[in-house]
Amino acid sequence: MKNAADAGDREASRRVLIVEDEVSLATLLAETVAAEGYDVSVLAEGGSVVDWVRRNAPAVVLLDLNLPDQDGFAICRDIRSFSSVPLIMITARVEEMDRLRGLEIGADDYICKPFRPREVLARVRALLRRAVDWRESRSDSVLSLDETRFEAYWKGIALDLTPVEFRLLQTLGQRPGRVFSRAQLLDAIYVDDRVVSDRTVDSHIKNLRKKIAESSGGDDPLSSVYGVGYKLEISTQRKT
Ligand code: CA
Repeated sequence: MKNAADAGDREASRRVLIVEDEVSLATLLAETVAAEGYDVSVLAEGGSVVDWVRRNAPAVVLLDLNLPDQDGFAICRDIRSFSSVPLIMITARVEEMDRLRGLEIGADDYICKPFRPREVLARVRALLRRAVDWRESRSDSVLSLDETRFEAYWKGIALDLTPVEFRLLQTLGQRPGRVFSRAQLLDAIYVDDRVVSDRTVDSHIKNLRKKIAESSGGDDPLSSVYGVGYKLEISTQRKT
């Protein structure tokens, strides 16, 4: 009996899964993360990862890209087919393309070897905090979307959006704090196969930004991440 309960389990979970085949590195990571009070599990092979995630609903997954038996990208894709668990990709490949690929297949963050374990811990904490922020912001309804009517509200005020702007905000709003590439955003906003340039996204973002700022008296939750794409941040600071 696991399904509806999974999300609740994960919210409360302090379980962190580390997938890393280099034993010394895996041990170092596990010790660092466990010392902060997380419940750590380590897998050295890719083959059992997807099933493990299904059964255990971890709070965060740290996934090495280069595993002996399976490609980290494929594992990430499989996990994303059923779970939105925060996922940090660990890679020794520093090329920009890999960084993009990692983000496009649904990794929330990535970290390049060599790294300091404290850095990894900081990322884990940031992801967990972001997950909490998102739940809080949902209950505060900073952003609410009526998907059947294509209506969007920012802090309760209706935004006058075009369908493309609505889909853009909907996509970014599904995962606040996560960076989406222009290609990903194009896929989300145009359902047909029209040929448009990446710059199209920039101009829609610009308009969306203007509309949110105008309706809210200056809120600017959209930001660009140089060389990667865009993200939406929802502040949880409550009005007093
Ligand atoms: Ca490895």
